[in-house]
Amino acid sequence: MTVGNAWSLDIKAKHEHDFRRTILIVDDEPVNLRLLGNILGGEYDTLYAQTGEEALNEIRNHKDFLSLVLLDLYMPKGNGYMVLDALRESEDLRNIPVIVFTAEKNAEVESLKKGAVDFLNKPYDSPEVIRARVSRAIELSIGSNIIGATGIDKLTGLMTREYFFQYCHEYDKFHPDQEVDAIVVNFSKFHLVNELYGRSFGDKVLQGIADGARTVARACGGVACRHNADCFYIYVEHQEDYDQIVQTVDEKLSSIMNSSDVHLRIGVYPDIYHSVNLEQRFDRAIQASNSISRNSNQTLVAVYDNRMHEKELYEARLLGDIEKALLENQFNVVFQPKYDITGDKPKLCSAEVLIRWKHPEFGFVRPDFFIPLFEENGRIKELDRYVWREAARQVKRWKDMYGASIPISVNVSRVDIFDPDLLEFLKEMVAENGLTTEDIHLEITETAYTDSVTTIIEVVNSLRDAGFKVEMDDFGKGYSSLNMLTSLPIDALKLDMAFIKDIAENNKEMSMVEFILEIARFLKVPVIAEGVESQEQFLLLKKAGCDIIQGYYFSKPVTASEFGRLIEKNA
Ligand code: C2E
Ligand code: CA
Ligand code: CA
Repeated sequence: MTVGNAWSLDIKAKHEHDFRRTILIVDDEPVNLRLLGNILGGEYDTLYAQTGEEALNEIRNHKDFLSLVLLDLYMPKGNGYMVLDALRESEDLRNIPVIVFTAEKNAEVESLKKGAVDFLNKPYDSPEVIRARVSRAIELSIGSNIIGATGIDKLTGLMTREYFFQYCHEYDKFHPDQEVDAIVVNFSKFHLVNELYGRSFGDKVLQGIADGARTVARACGGVACRHNADCFYIYVEHQEDYDQIVQTVDEKLSSIMNSSDVHLRIGVYPDIYHSVNLEQRFDRAIQASNSISRNSNQTLVAVYDNRMHEKELYEARLLGDIEKALLENQFNVVFQPKYDITGDKPKLCSAEVLIRWKHPEFGFVRPDFFIPLFEENGRIKELDRYVWREAARQVKRWKDMYGASIPISVNVSRVDIFDPDLLEFLKEMVAENGLTTEDIHLEITETAYTDSVTTIIEVVNSLRDAGFKVEMDDFGKGYSSLNMLTSLPIDALKLDMAFIKDIAENNKEMSMVEFILEIARFLKVPVIAEGVESQEQFLLLKKAGCDIIQGYYFSKPVTASEFGRLIEKNA
């Protein structure tokens, strides 16, 4: 299908709905209002005003609904020119088209200059002429407003998201009582399709999903867009069930790829009560789709439900509470020891600092729940800086108390990487505490590396140049290939807990770990295993040549004073 075709089809979809539009008629003679009302009332909803001032009030009050103003030029209390001037000066109102009534040629020219789109004669033209001009003026203004804002997604021929949202807003305005569904269609781990089969095949798959989304939109009375790379939005009349949608999308993809390679997650937010705005409806549809496992190997649908709503409220509460929590010292930090196991006896060599939140109402909140939340929201920066400062203060205290200390590693979230002040902040922080950059190690999660390779390499290089050691955290959780490791600037590799969980003598998991250890040795990068809980795991890892271990086997995260005692014993 060509782009041109898709465009006209989507425009056509818009007009299939042909909703009633609203027109404001302005004239000081009641009889004229009645006359025009009769001519246009069959097709449009009509509002009336008898003076320029009244007209402006009506326009301001109904600006989101108004499709057109019919304006008499000569009236008491603010004539038509005044109205035209006021509209032109207002960002909000200037796009509402105005047709003026006049009996003079001069006035026509003048009013066109002031922004009127057309004029009608007084005494009035025939009803057909009036209707035709009104409808043409409306069509033209819709066309220019929408086309001006947007376009079509080149790859799929669907609307772009700007256009889509504009369309949906307009749809809502004119169908205030229509029950609607916000739907998102997500291809999980789409980058794997690209990596395994190449980009052009990936493009084909996206076109297939787009085709499905478009067909669904058509069938259910609505529109679709590509929201970003592998995520599509559909806005349709409320459906009783969603099986047909799944089938349609699956069918379109079945001619392109093996059904076992299709990993679609579809989330739906049915807006029965019109309780939240458009963007929120799609956010909720995303939440619903996120409730489906990324690893599912068939297309699944999830509908936003009460449980998700409660989670949303809970998350909003937590986000709102962060300020107070920082002020009231609800956050504190704990230290989990890391042991060097390369020698005869395990030796304490470092610790990871981990945040804890004791919420006055909800009690202990898990970091793997609130950290991602704050990351998404941008608030993680403050929190991380708080933790880093605490870590630095503690290291200084231990140095003073024991004459020696060990480096402490802090978590650097992916958001911090994009903070232009990151390096400055860290350098100042260590200096202020009388430390050196060697006293603080930085853990950066593997997915940050794969998300934005070039930025991260730059940032990590600058951190290492300044003397900080950088550990790649959660290795194996993301998708960086082993191959990629060779070109990444890192000082240590931290194996994700999931790798360790099931290792046993000679099993598949253990060979994987051995393989990674071998590569790391080749790259001369030490490996830290975390989540080590048993002696068996410890012995296996030691035998395989793992360098450092962190986990419940040695110690759970402990308070600063408990950790201080460990340092003391160690020294
Ligand atoms: P992580 O960086 O991978 O931290 C390791 C997590 O594993 C910690 O959970 C730790 O308590 C837990 N753990 C350690 N040993 C074992 C074990 O033997 N068995 C099991 N089952 N778990 C073990 P925690 O403290 O709940 O932190 C979870 C995640 O939250 C962290 O994962 C990290 O991603 C994030 N996080 C924690 N503190 C911070 C922070 O200050 N800043 C940032 N950005 N993220 C943090
Ligand atoms: Ca970590
Ligand atoms: Ca980790």
